[in-house]
Amino acid sequence: MQKKSIKYIFVVGGVMSGVGKGVASASIGKILQSRGIEVTALKIDPYVNVDAGTMNPTEHGEVFVLDDGTECDQDMGNYERFLDRDLTRTNYMTTGSVYLSVIQKERNLEFGGKQVEVVPRIPLEIIERINKAVIKADAKVAITEVGGTVGEYENILFLEAVRMLKIKNPHDVVLVLVSYVPALGAGGNELKTKPTQHAVRSLNAVGLNPDIILARAHIPMDEKRKEKIEFMCSLEKGDVISAPNVSNIYEVPINFENDGLGDRILKKLKMSSRPKDMKEWRDMVLKMNSATKRLKIGIVGKYFGTGEFVLEDSYISVIESIRHAGGAINYRPEIVWLNSEQFEKDPKSLKELDTFDGIIVPGGFGSRGIEGKISVIKYCRENKIPYFGLCYGMQLAVIEFARHVASMKGANTTEIDAKTPFPVVDIMPEQKKNLKEKNFGATMRLGAYPAILKEGSMAQVAYSQSEIFERHRHRYEVNPEYAEKLEKAGLVFSGASPDGRLMEIAELPRTKHPFFLGTQFHPELKSRPLNPHPLFVAFVKACVLKKK
Ligand code: GLN
Repeated sequence: MQKKSIKYIFVVGGVMSGVGKGVASASIGKILQSRGIEVTALKIDPYVNVDAGTMNPTEHGEVFVLDDGTECDQDMGNYERFLDRDLTRTNYMTTGSVYLSVIQKERNLEFGGKQVEVVPRIPLEIIERINKAVIKADAKVAITEVGGTVGEYENILFLEAVRMLKIKNPHDVVLVLVSYVPALGAGGNELKTKPTQHAVRSLNAVGLNPDIILARAHIPMDEKRKEKIEFMCSLEKGDVISAPNVSNIYEVPINFENDGLGDRILKKLKMSSRPKDMKEWRDMVLKMNSATKRLKIGIVGKYFGTGEFVLEDSYISVIESIRHAGGAINYRPEIVWLNSEQFEKDPKSLKELDTFDGIIVPGGFGSRGIEGKISVIKYCRENKIPYFGLCYGMQLAVIEFARHVASMKGANTTEIDAKTPFPVVDIMPEQKKNLKEKNFGATMRLGAYPAILKEGSMAQVAYSQSEIFERHRHRYEVNPEYAEKLEKAGLVFSGASPDGRLMEIAELPRTKHPFFLGTQFHPELKSRPLNPHPLFVAFVKACVLKKK
């Protein structure tokens, strides 16, 4: 069951969800990495969906996409950004995907005629997948985040996998509980430990006790409170680590190290390491935090919900990419959300765009707010406001250009208007069948594809290379039948698939516009704080020039 020499760290949540388990897991990975230990990170989502691809971003946040096309939880993006590693399908699982493979094995007679029991079969499948991910990544340590909160039904079988592993090899498994610690009192500074104690009781009920507790609170936890949790929850001294709110998530590994987390984990896993070296990371955080010059960037979206829904979660990779690029050139971007429907209701409000240094239209689906987005793009093109279109944002820029420059009145995407006289964006031939058969799960054009860049174009200069690999997630594509006509009118397709059939980047020449560029792929999925994405860097540089 356990592979020799693999070490396992599990991260579970207590008291309530949304307290930053993903960032905590990624930060633990960063800490170990900074000591020369190779790690890999996995996310477990307890829902029945086989992957995150069928979920609305307003429900669950952004759908992150890996190189191999896996549609997964946004936390996978955090792992990739913190660890600067490309993860694979093996690093992500849901209740649905685990059951699916066990059922497939059963159908293939792989259980030798035996009755297949939920326990231990499901936990064994979970452990097998973790082992596979570690071997594939050539890592020593697997950090596995279990979604949800302890005490729920949904994640019980995942916790059982932790128990099964830990009971066999206690020195190879560390269980970290990220627990929310509320504050009361007049100044809001009296941290209350009782909910955490209850969360630990819930873990006890499934045969587990945490080895380390990360105390998530809006302020650092004082010694007295730490001692109380240690005593009440049977932890060793030093095993409660402060996890206060931060203004920049990349500070979290640094804070954890200041509280001794790396040493505690290594001691428990009986591992030795070289001395920690976080210099590059600290320098990056310092640069980001000390940038005082501001850039005002507008993101035009439609996923504006209310209530529990956090808007930032739908566009987290876009936001992070802007921050990485801004930090790299010593700017602090201020992001403003612009509701595309507002521009449909009140076209005069387009004037407001003059106050922005740059505008982004990110990915999306369906017809809501589309005409508003197109009028924003037109305004940016005509008024030389830097414009960056991501996936749908690229398709809509092509539509805008077709309608207003290339004289194709009524041009559209067939996603919105099946009868448009100029289907400049059309469903990809191989996608037609999927839509007809309602075969929606994991059937888009997904994952990394190569593109060849046009020598001397803005894109090529930004990347300073001629072939790129970028991640996709879409069913529609620029219609190759219109490519020539659009190029004749002045649009440049500066990136295309190696066979020349798929237009992957559209831009206006520098002589016509300071920055007007759209990508059919999602560059935001590959930006890392230590390695900002070249197109985002080119975009923020154009924003700086506009400001001046
Ligand atoms: N709706 C468009 C398509 O499916 C764009 C998708 C996206 O922006 N991710 O092609």
